[in-house]
Amino acid sequence: NSTSANLHVAILSSPGMGHLIPVVLLSNRLATHHCVTVTVLRVTTTVSPPESNLLKIPLHPLVNILELPPADISHLVDSSAKIVTQLCLMVRVSLPSIRSAMTNRRPHALFVDLFSTEALPIAAEFNIPNYVYVPSNAWFTALLAYSPILHQQFSEEYVNQTDPIRIPGCKPVRPEDLVDPMLDQKDQQYDEYLKIGENIPSSDGILINSWVDLEPETLQAFAENRSVINILVYPVGPLVRESKPDHRSSELVQWLDRQPDESVVLASFGSGGVLPQKQMTELAWGLELSRQRFVWVVRRPTGGPVDNAFLRVTNGGEGEDSKPDYLPEGFLTRTKDVGFLVSNWAPQAEILSHPAVGGFVSHCGWNSTLESIASGVPLIAWPLYAEQRMNAALLAEEVGVALRPRALATSEVVGREEIEAMVKALMEGEEGGRLREKAKQLKKSGAESLKHGGPSYISMCDLLAKIASINNVIS
Ligand code: UDP
Repeated sequence: NSTSANLHVAILSSPGMGHLIPVVLLSNRLATHHCVTVTVLRVTTTVSPPESNLLKIPLHPLVNILELPPADISHLVDSSAKIVTQLCLMVRVSLPSIRSAMTNRRPHALFVDLFSTEALPIAAEFNIPNYVYVPSNAWFTALLAYSPILHQQFSEEYVNQTDPIRIPGCKPVRPEDLVDPMLDQKDQQYDEYLKIGENIPSSDGILINSWVDLEPETLQAFAENRSVINILVYPVGPLVRESKPDHRSSELVQWLDRQPDESVVLASFGSGGVLPQKQMTELAWGLELSRQRFVWVVRRPTGGPVDNAFLRVTNGGEGEDSKPDYLPEGFLTRTKDVGFLVSNWAPQAEILSHPAVGGFVSHCGWNSTLESIASGVPLIAWPLYAEQRMNAALLAEEVGVALRPRALATSEVVGREEIEAMVKALMEGEEGGRLREKAKQLKKSGAESLKHGGPSYISMCDLLAKIASINNVIS
C-alpha cells in the first residue's frame, strides 16, 4: 500500500450506467484498499440525460469523475446503429478530449473499459502502461480475445454452425449463446467488436470482474498459458455494490420488511432491458400463477430491439408510469397483496441484499449477476442481449446458481406455465434450495477473495506493484 499510495490511475468509462457502475466500483476499490488516486474519464452522450444522479454509489475522496464533452456521432451513423457501434464511435470522437484531460494531469497508468480500447495507444504518448478492464467474466473475455482467430477459421456466419464454438482452455460456446455482435457479421458492430479483440493484445494486461472460485478452470488455463490470452489477466472481483436496505426512506424496503425471509422474487432486466408486449403478458401471468411474492421493475414495452433502451432508460425515479396499461387486466388488483411494482428503475443491489429476497429473475448482466451472488440469491437466467446468454449458460451449467428457461434458447416467448413452474422451483423446490446453497457459498468465497491476502486482493497488489515499478514510483 505504501507504494500504491503514490499512484494515480486514469480509468476511461464508455457511456451507459452498466459501464459506469463497474468503473466506479473498480475506482473505489483502488482508492479504499490500495490508496490509489483515480480519475474516471467519462465519455458522455448527446442523447441521454445525466446519469450521475442515479449512480448513488458514494465516491471515495481519492476518486474524481471528469465528464468529457458529449460525444456527437450523429454525423457518423444514424440512430439505428447497433449499440457496440455507437459506443465505439462515441469513444472514437472523444479521443482528443481524453488526450487533453490526461495532459492536464499525467496518470501513472491508463485503464480503458471494454468499449474504449481505441484509446489504448494514448498511453504510449504519455509513456505509461495501459490495461483493459473487462467488467465481466473470464469465459467471455476469452471469447472476445479469440474472436479475431475465429474470424479467420469460419467462412460462414457462426449462427449457421451446428457444433459449439471451441475456445482453447475454456468450455465451448453454443452458437446461439454467442455475444450479440457475433450473430451478424454483416453489421458494423461485428467489425467494431473484432477491433476490440484485436486491440486487447496491445495492452499490458486485462482486469476482469471475476474470481478464482467462480471460474476455476478458465482462470487456471489463463494462468498456465493454456488459453488464447497470452497477456496477463488480473481477476480482481467480485467488485459489486455494497448496499444495505435503507429502512427509513423507501416504501419498497418497508414492504420488504413485512415479508418473510427469502420469500420474495425480484424480476428486473438491467439498465436497458425492455420486454416485448407478448412477453410482458406472459411474465405477469407467470408471476401471478406462481403465487410467490414478487417485486417487479416494469418498463413500457417497445417494438424495437431489446437493447435499444440502453442509453435512454436512465430516468430513474422520474417518469413514473402511472398507467401500466400493458399489464393484463386486473393484474394489479389481484396481486396487490403479494406484488410490488416499480416503474423503470429500482435500487436493485439494495433490494437483493434484503433478507426477504430469495430469488432473482434477471437478464444476467454481469453487474446484476454479481449483485445476486453477493447477496446469496439464486437466479432465473433470462438473458436479453450483449454477452448475457453466455452469462446465463455459465450460471446455469457451470456455476450452478441459476435455472434457465428452455424457450429462450430458441428466442421464443417464454410461456406463463414455464415461468410459473420455474419461479416455484426456484423459491420452493429442492433444486432452488441447492442453487441457493451454492449462491451462499459463492457469496462467502467472493468476500474471502477480496480480503487482505485473498486471491483477488493479491492480484490487484501485483498489478499495482508493476505499475509502480514501470513508473519508478517508490514508497
Ligand atoms: N440497476 C439498478 N436498478 C434498475 C436496473 C439496473 O440499480 O432498475 C443497476 C443494477 O443494480 C446493476 C446495473 O444497473 O448494477 C446494471 O448492470 P448490468 O451489468 O446488470 O446490466 P446492463 O444494464 O449493463 O445490461
